[in-house]
Amino acid sequence: MDATTHCPRCDAPRSSLVRDGFYHRADDSKFIQRIRCKDCGQKFSNATFTDTYRQKRRRINETVRVCLSSNMCPRDIAELVGVNIKTIASRLIWLAARSRKNNQRRLQAYIDEYGPIKQVQFDDLLTFEHTNCKPLTVPVAIIDDVRIPLGFRVASIPAFGRLAKVSKERYGKRADDSVQARKSLFEELQKVLPEDVHFKTDGHRHYPVLIKQYFPKATHSIHNSDRGCVVGQGELKKTHFDPLFTINHSFANARAKINRLNRRTWCTTKLPKRLSDHIDIYIDVLCDRLERKRKYLQRREAMG
Ligand SMILES: [Zn+2]
Repeated sequence: MDATTHCPRCDAPRSSLVRDGFYHRADDSKFIQRIRCKDCGQKFSNATFTDTYRQKRRRINETVRVCLSSNMCPRDIAELVGVNIKTIASRLIWLAARSRKNNQRRLQAYIDEYGPIKQVQFDDLLTFEHTNCKPLTVPVAIIDDVRIPLGFRVASIPAFGRLAKVSKERYGKRADDSVQARKSLFEELQKVLPEDVHFKTDGHRHYPVLIKQYFPKATHSIHNSDRGCVVGQGELKKTHFDPLFTINHSFANARAKINRLNRRTWCTTKLPKRLSDHIDIYIDVLCDRLERKRKYLQRREAMG
């Protein structure tokens, strides 16, 4: 009765609860303590209070989480772990909620350990839903040098360039939510960043306005990169020193590890919300990876 503090049916205190045997959960071969409430007579168990309550395939969670951040598509993951593809789709949503909590906690832990964040890189990652004619933008803020993402949003933008006309003919006028999305992201950033933080961005014309509005005391340096180029992995193609390396490298990594962000892929986003979920899971796994690397380097350092 470790985590149990009250009856979930009638809210009776712990003193009214008694142990009532075990049952064997075939799904993950565990014995689960059953509990009976003396006040209402209802039974429940230790599993009632866990976030995997009522799941049928608990064992797949960790594998699915890592696979979703290792460039595997839902169909391949379903085949690998032996479930229906719809299970992967629903688990994506469930895992994302868990990852969001993790990410928040981890960011706070980082600030507690290393002090306030001094430098931030900010940029927009471009992708699309369903077709190239319906682009999405993903504004992302990340800690300079450390690669830990601070937050992101997913927003629809109108098609641009040579696709603009085709897009308008086929799908009508497409909403531009990018300004609103960046503002909402900056509201979130206000809660975690100090006032005098330093921003590094490219020459996007909305960024200075945004930074002035939400961080009037912050400094801002603009680094124009030759990223106008549309072919290949746009983010990583320079040979000289890149002041925006951290964010460009992170974007390139996300494109390589999140299947639906690949440059040429069969898997596309059908719902912007699911892209957002997927990125949350990716950030969670990425932070685990960075953490492992940091620990490894520390251990190596200690050995000399
Ligand atoms: Zn009760």
